[in-house]
Amino acid sequence: MVELRNIFFQAGARKILDGCSLVVRPHEIHALLGTNGVGKSTLGYIIMGCEGYQPTAGEILFRGEVINRLGISERARRGITMTWQEPVRFEGISVRDYISLRNPSCDEASYLRLVGLDPSWYLQRMVDRCLSGGERKRIELASALALHPQFAVLDEPDSGIDMLSFDDIVHVIRLFRDNGASVLLITHRPELALIASSASQLCGGRIVCTGSPREVTDFFMAKKCSVCTEVMCDA
Ligand code: ADP
Ligand code: MG
Repeated sequence: MVELRNIFFQAGARKILDGCSLVVRPHEIHALLGTNGVGKSTLGYIIMGCEGYQPTAGEILFRGEVINRLGISERARRGITMTWQEPVRFEGISVRDYISLRNPSCDEASYLRLVGLDPSWYLQRMVDRCLSGGERKRIELASALALHPQFAVLDEPDSGIDMLSFDDIVHVIRLFRDNGASVLLITHRPELALIASSASQLCGGRIVCTGSPREVTDFFMAKKCSVCTEVMCDA
């Protein structure tokens, strides 16, 4: 579904991705584990085609097509979407309009229910700083679900979400897959990675371990990675 082949990316003088290769298969949830600052979000931006995140070398493939030259809108039209680690705040737009922003014909209330929010309370509210981080995260997930993506990069969907709501978030992540999407689930939490069907660990700019979520989380927790520098492992 999505394949990264030997991707290199540098921000200023700092190498972030250094020959990174990764395969996410159709209809799978693939967890991407890694410590803070290792380049997980960067890898997501590179797949999404965000401005300033053009790899210096390597190929990004979507359904067998090299998409390096496609802009973010063209990738979105092909069915690639991403939810951000820190959801954007749109001042002056209602939750209803935000959810249907990219899919005007959707039933906004049903998507709010899917992410565990009561439509009668949230639909008319504004997407602004009055919403908590967890509420914004759920609303962004609802907006991404409404798109019926083929491929969804979910960047730390559990951050800002309390432990009691963890199961709700797991349910929403599975909904993407059940609706036909492949999911790249970016996380640094092993317990979330364990809901995936496969997993990889990013370290030192490369994927250092790929396998079942259990194998990869064990590898990650034991700090077995030998290709990274200590600074990166302890970040
Ligand atoms: P992660 O998501 O794994 O925590 P990021 O992908 O956000 O890590 O960032 C990886 C590293 O690259 C960090 O040290 C970050 O500060 C740096 N970085 C990312 N994007 C840029 C950029 N555009 N300019 C400079 N540094 C960047
Ligand atoms: Mg990140």
